[in-house]
Amino acid sequence: MRLHQTSGTTGRPLTVLDTTESWDWWADCWATIYHAAGATSDDIVFLAFSFGPFIGFWAAYEGAKRIGALVAPGGGQTSAQRLRAMLAIGATVLVCTPTYALHLAEVATQEGIDLASSSIRLTIHAGEPGASVPSVRRRIEEAWGARAYDHAGMTEMGAYAFTCQRQDALHVNEAEFIAEILDPVTGAPTVEGERGELVLTNLGRWGMPAIRYRTRDLVQRGPTACPCGRTYLTLPGGVLGRVDDMLIIRGVNVYPSGIEDALRSISAVQEFRVTVFKVGELDEIELEVECPPEVVPQVEATLRKALSLRIPTRAVAPGALPRFELKARRIVDRRGERA
Ligand SMILES: [Zn+2]
Repeated sequence: MRLHQTSGTTGRPLTVLDTTESWDWWADCWATIYHAAGATSDDIVFLAFSFGPFIGFWAAYEGAKRIGALVAPGGGQTSAQRLRAMLAIGATVLVCTPTYALHLAEVATQEGIDLASSSIRLTIHAGEPGASVPSVRRRIEEAWGARAYDHAGMTEMGAYAFTCQRQDALHVNEAEFIAEILDPVTGAPTVEGERGELVLTNLGRWGMPAIRYRTRDLVQRGPTACPCGRTYLTLPGGVLGRVDDMLIIRGVNVYPSGIEDALRSISAVQEFRVTVFKVGELDEIELEVECPPEVVPQVEATLRKALSLRIPTRAVAPGALPRFELKARRIVDRRGERA
């Protein structure tokens, strides 16, 4: 009774179907995410997203209904209209991508809206991992005067993980999923502290089951005991990247999330874009950053410290780089082109 389609950022879009009971199960999984973030039936949930074929925010909508909250879909509106709608209805929970939360904060500044004093008390993020990146989360929380929570899910699998009040790791929802973390090359199991590919089995999506599905998500195996009292497996730092996203630059392993974490710690940086290209047989990267030109030495020094890598950086004008409502695409891969 439901048809969903992926955004198809890596190849052909994937079409997925759900039965009534499978879709109910999605709503239950999202209710877990809301409960863990502290959302209740007293909340007014605003979904800042254009409702299309992508499953994520539809599931968030169903989950908000499930916890008994008042739900406001924010499709078909400009960013400024969304901000005004949120303020007008006294929304208390914002659901959107982390990238879009930062973009809304920029628009609010332009419109003279003080978000920190708004009624939004918590934000829940979907679509991309940023809210588990400490510097991204801090920036969202400062801009919104709210606590920011992450969740992880995928069209093929379900909403499989959430952050608790500790906020620094995802919990896999092990009531509904079996999680394995395996070496992506050998398939060998990892031990605590090691990184690997998350392999999932969903237990309640009977209309569209997936068994030992290789998610391509790179995660770290954390402890199963959390001060919040849950005993579900933790993934410190959330989804660290895609297994396929790792770049090897001058012998150093680099994940785009590592670049983002370093950049977001510099308050003058607004948006950025990484270009990957080939020099002979080797991969190289360069960076464009929306910041004043005099900040570039600080950006390069921060990246060199965080990644042990010198990354040539160029300042561009504010607003010069694209903004994203859904999955941000900040990596431009030109390795297939001739120099
Ligand atoms: Zn916890």
